Amino acid sequence: MISDNTFIWMAVFAVSSAIVNGLGIYAIYKNKSWAEKAKTYLMCFAAGMLISVPLVFAFPNAVEKNFYAGFAGLVGFLFMFFSNNVIKHRTRQQSLAFGITAAEGIGIHSFVDGVIYAVTFSASILVGFLSGLGLVIHEFAEGVIIFSVLIKAGFKKKKAALCAFFIASLTTPLGAFIAYPFVSMLDSSLLGLALGFVVGVLIYISASHLLPEAREHEKEHSKWAFLAGVALALVIVLTKMA
Ligand SMILES: [Zn+2]
Repeated sequence: MISDNTFIWMAVFAVSSAIVNGLGIYAIYKNKSWAEKAKTYLMCFAAGMLISVPLVFAFPNAVEKNFYAGFAGLVGFLFMFFSNNVIKHRTRQQSLAFGITAAEGIGIHSFVDGVIYAVTFSASILVGFLSGLGLVIHEFAEGVIIFSVLIKAGFKKKKAALCAFFIASLTTPLGAFIAYPFVSMLDSSLLGLALGFVVGVLIYISASHLLPEAREHEKEHSKWAFLAGVALALVIVLTKMA
């Protein structure tokens, strides 16, 4: 079931992630106000895709492979909840030590993003493609965020941009390429559990990370961006199901 195409598609999306993340870093480096405005809309749009795809497409796919995928999904959600609590708590404080802790958290998060590509593309190219679209778009915001965190921690602009690239951009393809050989060895039933876990992670990213962050800087059209993300996901899923 796992073909060479699976790997190629995963690689394309993982590398695009790094590029879009790098674009986010470059954008805020060059033009802070433009980048922050774009960030809000892109986060909302990505949130729309990343809540729809797991619920209507990836989760049924996971349950088809393993009836207990919902339990894995709950574990994935709780995993994100507890690991993100630590990060959020620490990013409030503006010092080098806390900046580094926050950067570590973002680095781990970006690595997990890469693992998500390995799991979703192994489940099916369409599941990977759909989750991947939302993920690649949210990478722009992540690039903007990591740069801001490092600046708050006292880094000079150039150094912040370079560190951000290593911490947030490169870690995603790294996660994908490291996880892929292991994920591709899983049988269908275990892959169902892994996909269930990823569904929990994606729902968390959308509902608890992207949406509240975007709401903090409530822009007039952000809910339209959110609904546009939902609509795009539904259009692709429904066309493929028909
Ligand atoms: Zn992410």
